[in-house]
Amino acid sequence: MSQLPKKARALLKSVFGYEDFRPGQAEIIAAVLAGEGVLAIMPTGSGKSMCYQLPALVDERLTVVVSPLIALMRDQVRQMRACGVSAATLNSMNDAQENDEARRALRSGELRLLFVSPERLFAPGVLDTLARAGARRLAIDEAHCVSEWGHDFRPEYRDLGAAAEALGAQVVGLTATADKATRADIAKRLFKTDPHVFLHSFDRPNLALNFVAKDQPRRQLTRFLDKHRGESGIVYCSSRDATEKLAEFFAEQGHQTICYHARLDQAVRNRNQDRFLQEDGIIAVATIAFGMGVNKPDVRFVAHADMPSSVESYYQEIGRAGRDGLPADTLTLYGLDDMAFRRRQIDQKDVDDERKRVEHDRFSALAMLCETPVCRRQTLLAYFDEESPPCGRCDICLQQVKIYDGTVDAQKALSAAMRTGQRFGANYLAEILIGAATEAVRRNGHETIKTFGVGKDRTKQEWSGIIRQLFAARAFASTEHGGFMLTPKGEDILFGRAQISLRLDALAPRERRKEAPR
Ligand code: ADP
Ligand code: ZN
Repeated sequence: MSQLPKKARALLKSVFGYEDFRPGQAEIIAAVLAGEGVLAIMPTGSGKSMCYQLPALVDERLTVVVSPLIALMRDQVRQMRACGVSAATLNSMNDAQENDEARRALRSGELRLLFVSPERLFAPGVLDTLARAGARRLAIDEAHCVSEWGHDFRPEYRDLGAAAEALGAQVVGLTATADKATRADIAKRLFKTDPHVFLHSFDRPNLALNFVAKDQPRRQLTRFLDKHRGESGIVYCSSRDATEKLAEFFAEQGHQTICYHARLDQAVRNRNQDRFLQEDGIIAVATIAFGMGVNKPDVRFVAHADMPSSVESYYQEIGRAGRDGLPADTLTLYGLDDMAFRRRQIDQKDVDDERKRVEHDRFSALAMLCETPVCRRQTLLAYFDEESPPCGRCDICLQQVKIYDGTVDAQKALSAAMRTGQRFGANYLAEILIGAATEAVRRNGHETIKTFGVGKDRTKQEWSGIIRQLFAARAFASTEHGGFMLTPKGEDILFGRAQISLRLDALAPRERRKEAPR
């Protein structure tokens, strides 16, 4: 393993004001300074940028940083300059003066970090200029954009490997996307020989993970918040409307709340955010607009009133809790309506079918995490390709969830959908199963089908739990109008070619079951 020069630690303190490296940084920076090809995979917020910022200062040479977002480049330049580091950007949004200044700094040899968009890097003459300026290394931020396997492929990234070669520069790739296929693909595309791969754990052991099927969300959230009175926390909602209503509701319950979403006035947003950052014990009820740049170390809890859009966003959002390393709590409410809402959102996006399919798959991974019968942390880390033992602390570990062979129940539910033309939602299917001859059921003549009443042994609520699990397991897919149809997997189960395990506890919301014996 490469040794970290003393100068690195000294500059970390004198330039950036940090006492110590974050986990993983020291090893990566040592390898970068030793001139190795490096691919670093670290979770968001773990301090990836430092892995190229500091080396540029240690060896006093130019590092070219390729980054996909102009806003982020500008942000970094501002931060670097505030630390007294010579930095500039070259991008299509620059005015002439900014570009002239960048070129001047390049020629003078004082520049340490130059942020460029990939398009700009390949503009005529730019590579030559950079070579002449003595570019030592090419740092590629969001390196997963180079891979078509990743979720954010950008064609402009494709030739970055060749650009590095033309420059004769060392490559340092950084990304928070860790699945194996993408990782291998990045390595192949950016590096001539196998890079030194640093895979930092995505585990956040101080976060307690809890999921609950949504039943009476206000009551469920109130209980969670009452456990955390006086602490700072965030409650995420999927709509602006919901944030306002919930913030008001929690305030009535005696909590101090602020509301945050994109439609609020900028001034109001800033004021609310400042209050959250500066005061203790404030609950931010917010959409995902809240979070970027919220770096409060002592956030003690994050709750999701609605399901997030993917495992990545879930991970990022809960990751805002417990940055100080002390225990922090999380709660995610999930339900069929949420799942249908997210699916609809994807379907309505203006992107091609392939992309929609990928997004559906990514959402399905989150739905599986909600319905998983095994440890949440284990399931979450498995998504990032990490193996881990059961954590012993999540809701599943603590409850010892019971699973049963749900194949027969699943067949009943799937058959109910099949025999009613694969166009009805969970509520209607549950009515058919318990044999409720509601007006709608009679109007459709469905009280005469074979499946009517085959599920009398269970309650309507239990059937919704089963249908939700089938949906999460992708045995059911949703139709355009919110109904359910069978997937190939659903057909396999229906026709006895496949089995499915279901969670007993998820059939009825847990909280009510606990209260029932009283
Ligand atoms: P990433 O790119 O991995 O999402 P960033 O590079 O933006 O993360 O870093 C996240 C935050 O961590 C930044 O505010 C950064 O200044 C801070 N940071 C980086 N390294 C350290 C360190 N060694 N000690 C304390 N804070 C650090
Ligand atoms: Zn667990």
